[in-house]
Amino acid sequence: MTQPFSYKNLSFIENFGHSLSAPAFVHHPSSVDEIHEAFQLAKKEGMTVTLRGAGRSYNDAALNSLGIVLDLQGLNKILEWNSETGVVTAEPGVTLAKLWQVVLPDGWWPPVVSGTMATTLGGCLGMNIHGKNNFKMGTIGEHVLEFTALLPTGAKITCSPKKNGDLFRAMIGGMGMLGVFTSITLQMKKMHSGLLQVHAYPVHNLEEHLKALLDGAPQHDYIVGWLDATAGGKGLGRGQIHAAKYLHEGDDPDANKTMRVDYQTLPDRMFGVFPKSIIHYFMAPFMNNFGTWGVNTAKYVMSLRKGTYRQSHAAFHFLLDYVPNWELAYGRSGLIQYQSFLPKETALEAWRGILALSHTRRLPSYLGVTKRHRPDDFLLSHSVDGFSLAMDFKVTRSNKEKLAAMLQEFDQIVLSAGGRFYFAKNSETTPETARRFLGGETIEKFRMLKQRTDPDNLLESDLYRRVFG
Ligand SMILES: Cc1cc2nc3c(=O)[nH]c(=O)nc-3n(C[C@H](O)[C@H](O)[C@H](O)COP(=O)(O)OP(=O)(O)OC[C@H]3O[C@@H](n4cnc5c(N)ncnc54)[C@H](O)[C@@H]3O)c2cc1C
Repeated sequence: MTQPFSYKNLSFIENFGHSLSAPAFVHHPSSVDEIHEAFQLAKKEGMTVTLRGAGRSYNDAALNSLGIVLDLQGLNKILEWNSETGVVTAEPGVTLAKLWQVVLPDGWWPPVVSGTMATTLGGCLGMNIHGKNNFKMGTIGEHVLEFTALLPTGAKITCSPKKNGDLFRAMIGGMGMLGVFTSITLQMKKMHSGLLQVHAYPVHNLEEHLKALLDGAPQHDYIVGWLDATAGGKGLGRGQIHAAKYLHEGDDPDANKTMRVDYQTLPDRMFGVFPKSIIHYFMAPFMNNFGTWGVNTAKYVMSLRKGTYRQSHAAFHFLLDYVPNWELAYGRSGLIQYQSFLPKETALEAWRGILALSHTRRLPSYLGVTKRHRPDDFLLSHSVDGFSLAMDFKVTRSNKEKLAAMLQEFDQIVLSAGGRFYFAKNSETTPETARRFLGGETIEKFRMLKQRTDPDNLLESDLYRRVFG
């Protein structure tokens, strides 16, 4: 490995939303030995190390101010794929895009995917991602049969639900703070078509919205809501639900064709004309309170017609990937996402309060997305038996402080309602908030495991320092 401390490789890296940036010594190891060397150098020089996958976290999870960042995208080989059993073993830099493209033609699909296929398996396990099927399939960690990891001490370990179970449940969702996943073995889900049967229908207010998620989930494999966060009054919480089911064997006469990669691949032109890479320039003029109110209202009116149709897996799951670099439309200071997870009993009142507050403060969210969730037993779990609401906010130089203050008020509402937060998303979670939703005992347990795997505290990130002090 080249010397990490020359200013030649000091560069500014950003979070996904371009709202945060930090100077770091960025390295691109291509083997586990090189990762080990980086730990040794960090120890010698008194520096810290952050692991980075595709950098798709909305916050400071993969940033390390004036420390070392190991970009692991170079470790991107599928090590083993068994098309009979659907078991895959891959290096941590393999993206979800690469994974589904290997397994779908053989009739399989990743059991849990994020809203973008650009994420890496290491990053997905680091945060224990959930999909639009969280209520049914849980988080990605629930489908990991085994992983191997390199600890900062140089030790190599293997973990599964039964072997080193405490580390298994803490490293998955452990924000890359306990060790480095070096290979991951996952069980894929059997498919009989490259298509999903999708049912789209409107919901007219928040109460109806949450009821639709609750009642619709048991009858579907996936459910997700779009929430018009600019609407107030009687329409507060209105939106549209998309619920989808897998097709059974024989339902799709062209299954061999629809499971092909070229059938799934998202088109690179919008309306067959505009290259998608320039679409975000056309979106930018609408990224203000008035413009997004107009766009959301038009979308809501269009969603009033119910519809049932078949859609490819890639188009259903990775809608946001349709417009590359869409986040740039938010302008120079970027965007942040605030996602809260609330028990089904308290969500209605809490989100009514949050949405109303965002309107009073004149800081509406430009995009709202809801999901149905179930709890899990990972140590730093963000999930609940309830719902989540993700809200995207535009950051500007003039609204920064006001926005941060409002999100602190949101935190208090969520905490009082027994809610939780997700370390891949929120940018303002404080140590006090983390202690309140995780509990002191959980944090203590995490610290003790860290003491075991990383006694020199080599693994740190801006997120870890912010939340765990
Ligand atoms: C458009 C969009 C849609 C999204 N939709 C969803 C969604 O539906 N559901 C959801 O749960 N999340 C979602 N996310 C969040 C995203 O899935 C997570 O932030 C994920 O962790 C990003 O993966 P990454 O490869 O970019 O990891 P990074 O952001 O680079 O890193 C994430 C964390 O993983 C750690 N890490 C990375 N590699 C390793 C490794 N090899 N070993 C140990 N730790 C490691 C890092 O240190 C960091 O703490 C979305 C993000 C975007 C931008």
